[in-house]
Amino acid sequence: MKNLSVKLKITIWFSVIMLIIIAATFGIIMWVSNSVMQKNIQDNVVETVEDNVDEIEFLNVLKDDQFDNDSDLYISYKDGYLEIDDDFLETVNGVYTALYHESGVLLYGENPVALESNNVLFSNGRIQKLKLDGVTYYVYDRLLDVAGTQGLWLRGIVSENQGTQQLTSIIRLSLVILPALFVLAVIGGYWIAGRMLKPLEKITEAAVQIGQGSDLDRRIDLGAGRDEIHRLAGVFDDMFGRLDKAFKAERQFTSDASHELRTPMAVIMAQCEFILEAPRTQEEYEEALHVVQRQGRKMSRLIEDMLCFSRMEQNSDNYPKQMINFSELTNDVCTDMAMLREKDIHLTWTAAPDIFIFGNQILLTRLLTNLISNAYRYGRNNGFIKVILDCGEEIQLTVEDDGIGIEENQQDKIFERFYRTDASRTTEGTGLGLAMVKDIAQYHGGRVLVTSEIGKGSIFVAIFPCVEKK
Ligand code: ADP
Repeated sequence: MKNLSVKLKITIWFSVIMLIIIAATFGIIMWVSNSVMQKNIQDNVVETVEDNVDEIEFLNVLKDDQFDNDSDLYISYKDGYLEIDDDFLETVNGVYTALYHESGVLLYGENPVALESNNVLFSNGRIQKLKLDGVTYYVYDRLLDVAGTQGLWLRGIVSENQGTQQLTSIIRLSLVILPALFVLAVIGGYWIAGRMLKPLEKITEAAVQIGQGSDLDRRIDLGAGRDEIHRLAGVFDDMFGRLDKAFKAERQFTSDASHELRTPMAVIMAQCEFILEAPRTQEEYEEALHVVQRQGRKMSRLIEDMLCFSRMEQNSDNYPKQMINFSELTNDVCTDMAMLREKDIHLTWTAAPDIFIFGNQILLTRLLTNLISNAYRYGRNNGFIKVILDCGEEIQLTVEDDGIGIEENQQDKIFERFYRTDASRTTEGTGLGLAMVKDIAQYHGGRVLVTSEIGKGSIFVAIFPCVEKK
């Protein structure tokens, strides 16, 4: 059973249920038909006998023209005559009616089992059963009560087999219609199950192709529909979209990183070749070593950043979180950074006391350093940098400067890895600082926003969820 396809399993299950329903329906039809038929036969015998009661009359004398004028039957009875009307139904719809004297002598009419039914005692207005050679007969008796006819019985008798023909027709019809319905239902069920499961094949096919990495742009694309399978396909398409985006970003990052590493590497190689080509002066050696050192530092920063990104993506074991006094951390970082005194920029800070955050100290230090170094790097001479740490509904870290500012259409892009605005091309930097700030904020369940005006300055706000103060 395990190895059967879902389509076949559904069909088998469906067929078994259909079979049970059809068998039950057949049983019910038989039972109801039989009951209705028995009731009809019994009603029929009662009705026929009761109708015949009115067709028998007692006459004291017979007029002369009585015999000539009608086709009624006259039987001499006691000191008069019994007139049997020509409407008297001896045999109709399988019901036989006969007139009996109370002594049991048959006076008129037919009874196919007259001899055997003699043993059945007359019983006024009651249906009695008589079993003969496996056939059941219904016997209905009626005592006549009109003047002169007292003591006479009308007996109706009908065989149960009378309705068998109808029942046989019902059985025959059921035996043709019900199996035909069953076959139709099974074929229909198989077809519907196939149709319903068809999209699953599409999903599997797309997943296999994407899984093999052969076609990352591929989507299931089931089209409009709100059933479970369409929703599942939608979820898969979203997931494939995200995977595709992640793969592309990963590829882009690798290619950008190699590109960024290639330049300092080329400079180092050029410096080494220059020094080794011929004997050089002391100054030239020192100059070359400084260049190598600078480029080496740049490469090492780049590699460190790349490692940091990949560690954050992998898991939280690399950067374990603990309860940190964010206020103290901000004060410490700002105190250190204020020593830079680049471009005579004045750094001031206010941190509300004892704001705690559940986070990683290395990463949060990095976030602060990156934002403040950018504010220095892109700040104006004699400008200012304001750092504010506050906690309302959320923790807010604001770093504001009055530097060169960022054009509005660039404000989203600056958070992408390796993205640098044209204005910053001449300054030192890797283009990874803000991407790192964004990832660190997300690593702590937060986000980063920027508002900036070209020539006036920028405000970066990192927002984190609050934790209970200790
Ligand atoms: P970079 O190493 O170039 O500084 P970042 O990722 O830190 O890389 O920043 C990306 C770009 O965003 C920078 O190249 C610069 O153009 C812009 N930027 C970042 N911070 C500021 C700021 N405080 N003022 C103006 N521009 C900024």
